[in-house]
Amino acid sequence: MSLPALADLKDLDGARVLARLDLNVPVADGEVLDDTRITAALPTLRWLMERVEVVAACSHLGKAKGSPDPAYSLEPVAAALAQALGRPVRFVPDCLDPSRADAAPGELLLLENLRFYAGEKANDAAFAAQLTAPFSHYVNDAFGTAHRAHASVVAAAALYPTGRKAAGFLMAAEVAALSRVVNDPEQPYVAAVGGAKVSTKTAPLEALLGRVQTLLIGGGMANTFFLARGLEVGRSLVEEEMVSTALQVLDAAAARGVEIELPSDVVAADAIEGPSRIEVVPSSAIPADLMVVDIGPDTRARYAAKLAPARTIFWNGPMGVFEVDEFAAGTLAVAEAIASSPAFSVVGGGESVMAIRRAGVFDRIDHVSTGGGASLEFLSGDTLPAITALET
Ligand code: ADP
Ligand code: MG
Repeated sequence: MSLPALADLKDLDGARVLARLDLNVPVADGEVLDDTRITAALPTLRWLMERVEVVAACSHLGKAKGSPDPAYSLEPVAAALAQALGRPVRFVPDCLDPSRADAAPGELLLLENLRFYAGEKANDAAFAAQLTAPFSHYVNDAFGTAHRAHASVVAAAALYPTGRKAAGFLMAAEVAALSRVVNDPEQPYVAAVGGAKVSTKTAPLEALLGRVQTLLIGGGMANTFFLARGLEVGRSLVEEEMVSTALQVLDAAAARGVEIELPSDVVAADAIEGPSRIEVVPSSAIPADLMVVDIGPDTRARYAAKLAPARTIFWNGPMGVFEVDEFAAGTLAVAEAIASSPAFSVVGGGESVMAIRRAGVFDRIDHVSTGGGASLEFLSGDTLPAITALET
């Protein structure tokens, strides 16, 4: 089965649609701090508002623990959404409130945080039945939650037959772009993986080995690979317990003929905040009193040269502590190299997307995945429960 699209929905005249969105935006003091996810939800909402009678949007927000918590209310998001759409949004202060059933034609509702009910995370069928009861159709555009078996994305979808449920535009775009790098990617396929730790990226690393021609390693995780190769890493962030995993990755790469590249030089500093010593050193001579904070200039040039001829690129994880200006050059250089390559390029991951923005290359990347954990699970070849629930 393939993913049903909005255009596959039937009987939209007079339809009342429950739209599961990812409106999990950062909120502080009642203000939305970053509206990326609100903007990303607009195409699906606009498409629905033009065709159906009522749309009830719903989402989770923050770390709500199964009961109401004002710190995680979606009310500020309703205001931001109304502003972005230029139309009123009625906030419903409880996602099961009966008032959501008597919306007037043309009304757009935003239901309160789904995770104020324990049934959401428990994928509880009774909660899903209550949530969906007033709605004739169901749309899921929350790719960022697609790897979670939660009621609003799994049990809810199961209640709708073919023609009455669909993936929204964002979900469809994520699945299309990520499928292209998972299924039969055009070669040469070069992946760059960095970020803080090996332990959070083991499955994607192993999955990439089965598909790529070249794997470029950077960020804090490179330190664990340095240890695996017998190098010293000074005071760097390192995961001793992941050295054996790093060795397995190196062995698997060798066995499959995958070229695996580690930084040949690094930027090392005595502190992340307010450093007084910053040195560029070969990876084989990292001073005992310093820590690795970025890839060095030789490595930037080598990685750029590997990325230039690629036909497919996937990037996850910054090459260094790019949040600090002095340690951002490696990440920015890789971002620029990916943007300049004619390859089909996909970038995913929370901090990686921030880095892409910082580098000013957002528009030159084919697909910037905001799915975080969901993107990495998809990349690892896992079937995502919310996608399966839409397909069946
Ligand atoms: P993403 O969110 O894109 O998946 P991660 O969460 O895995 O990426 O890692 C991002 C973090 O890794 C960044 O905050 C960055 O500061 C950190 N990082 C990168 N290189 C290093 C390093 N050498 N030492 C410590 N932290 C690092
Ligand atoms: Mg992260």
